[in-house]
Amino acid sequence: TSFGFRTVADGDKQPLVNDVFHKVARRYDIMNDLMSAGLHRVWKDAMVSTLAPPKSAGRGFKVLDVAGGTGDVAMRIVERSGNTAHAVVCDINGSMLSVGRDRAAKAGLSEYVRFVEGNAESLPFPAGHFDAYTIAFGIRNVPHIDRALTEAFRVLKRGGRLLVLEFSQVDIPFLDRIYDAYSFNAIPAIGQAVAGDGEPYRYLVESIRKFPHQERFAQMIRDAGFSRVTYRNYTGGIACLHSGWKI
Ligand code: SAM
Repeated sequence: TSFGFRTVADGDKQPLVNDVFHKVARRYDIMNDLMSAGLHRVWKDAMVSTLAPPKSAGRGFKVLDVAGGTGDVAMRIVERSGNTAHAVVCDINGSMLSVGRDRAAKAGLSEYVRFVEGNAESLPFPAGHFDAYTIAFGIRNVPHIDRALTEAFRVLKRGGRLLVLEFSQVDIPFLDRIYDAYSFNAIPAIGQAVAGDGEPYRYLVESIRKFPHQERFAQMIRDAGFSRVTYRNYTGGIACLHSGWKI
């Protein structure tokens, strides 16, 4: 894999990924808005509506948001549940988590969202613990995607649901070309202008290109043991939501 400034095999990319997110952590949320023109909010809201966390306090819906970074998805889920769900944000990067902790405190959600440092490939949680496992724009950064999916399956309860939101393959003619031009040129340029460094964003764009196609990723989810695997493209496939159930 070439990141412009280094060449590493996929299995060894974790230190590089950590470096990227350590660098961007403080500006991560604003960069998301700028680079996706706010679209990431629409996609995340669609993900959360699909999950539809129950509003009844009942036994308490437990969600694990892996690669949850600054807690954006976890907080949306808790809010959507009328502050009845409990979310654990697990991320490998302490810098992203500390931004998240501050955000949750400011939003008055510290009681509902916990931040735990951990690796998606070997989660620090017991088997059969969560009602839902979510991961947004995270799984493409994990060196061994198959291990992450196997871990997702392990920590879910029977009847639990997996939702993966990720950048995907655009297959609408013309939109694909605009999107290529935008991502290869504009994204690193915005990174350079706002964060003073375009390099981490070049990595992000490359990692999107290398992520498996919708159908192939659906098969990887089935291979990890999930049933009733489906997916839905957003914005012509710029993003895609995959769903699976542990039955
Ligand atoms: N889910 C958040 C969102 O949608 O705003 C953050 C997504 S951010 C693009 C990707 C996150 O994946 C980073 O916070 C990074 O630290 C995390 N990450 C990368 N490799 C990981 C791993 N092996 N295990 C857990 N998290 C990881």
